[in-house]
Amino acid sequence: MHDLIDIERLAKNEIEEIISKAEFFAKGGRESVVKERTACMMFFENSTRTHCSFEIAAKKLGMHVLNFDVKSSSFSKGESFKDTFENLHFIDVDVFVIRHSEDGIIDRIKTELAYDLKFINAGDGKRAHPTQALLDFYTMKEKLGDVCGRKIVIVGDVAHSRVAKSNLALLNKFGADVHFCAPSYFMPENPGNFRAVWHSDLKDAISDADVVMLLRVQNERLDERTTKSAGSYADLYKLDSNTLEKYAPNAILMHPGPVNREVEITSELLDSEKGRTILEQAKNGVYVRMAVLNMLGGANV
Ligand code: ASP
Repeated sequence: MHDLIDIERLAKNEIEEIISKAEFFAKGGRESVVKERTACMMFFENSTRTHCSFEIAAKKLGMHVLNFDVKSSSFSKGESFKDTFENLHFIDVDVFVIRHSEDGIIDRIKTELAYDLKFINAGDGKRAHPTQALLDFYTMKEKLGDVCGRKIVIVGDVAHSRVAKSNLALLNKFGADVHFCAPSYFMPENPGNFRAVWHSDLKDAISDADVVMLLRVQNERLDERTTKSAGSYADLYKLDSNTLEKYAPNAILMHPGPVNREVEITSELLDSEKGRTILEQAKNGVYVRMAVLNMLGGANV
C-alpha cells in the first residue's frame, strides 16, 4: 500500500489487514515501524475528529507531527501545490494527511510532482473519506461480527456525502445489504449507479435494520435551491428514540459526526445509550488511523 486515496483502490485483504492491525492497537499493542517519521497534517477544510485522531494516532506511534497551517502558509503568496509539497518532502515529511474541498485533489497533486510522495486522504470534497469508512467498518464488525447480508441503512444527504460513498464502496466489497434513504434533493444524479436499495420514507427504510447510519446535511456544499429544500429535512427525517425503537429495535446507531442536533437526530436519542456508539466510532478512528499510518510508513518512506 503506497497511498490511501479511496476504498475502491484497496483490495479486500488490505482492508482486512488494516482492521486486524487496528484491533492489535486497540488491545494496547504498541509495535510501530514509523517511530521518528514525520506526518504532515494539511487540513484545508475544518475538522475535529479526523484531524485530532490522526494526530493522536501518529503520536501514539512515536511519529513527529507537523500541523501545517494553511492560512499562514505561503499558499497565500501564490505558491503552487507542487512547490509546497516538494519543499516539505525535502525537509523530511514522510507522509501527508490531506483534507480538501476538491474532489480528487490528491490524484491531481500527484500528477504535478517530480517525487513519489505518500498521501492519505482525510476527505476530498464529496468524493471519498476512506478512513471514516474503515473506522465505521471496524465498529460494525465489533458489534455485529460480520457485515455480510446485514441490512445497513444510510440516511440523509447522500448526494454531497463522501462518507456515504466510501461506506458503500467498502460495504459492497464485503457483501452487506446496503440501503440509502434520502429525499429527492439529496439523491445523487445517477442513483442507479449506486449498488444499494433506495428509499424516501424513513420508517420503511430502517425497518429491521442492523445498522442505521445518519449523515449530516452538508450545508457547505449545497446550492441555493437545495438549501431551500433542505429547510424541511428535519420534519421528515429527524430520527428519535421512539421511531428507532419501534422500527429497528436491534439496530446499531451510527453517525460520522459532526452531529447537527435536532436536524438529523434528536438530542434525546443522541444522549441515550444508543448514541454511545457514535462516540465509540470516534475512539475506533484512532486505532484505524494508527494502522493506516503504520502500514504506509512501513512500506518505503
Ligand atoms: N466528518 C465527516 C466528513 O468530513 C462527515 C461530515 O462532515 O458530515 O465528511
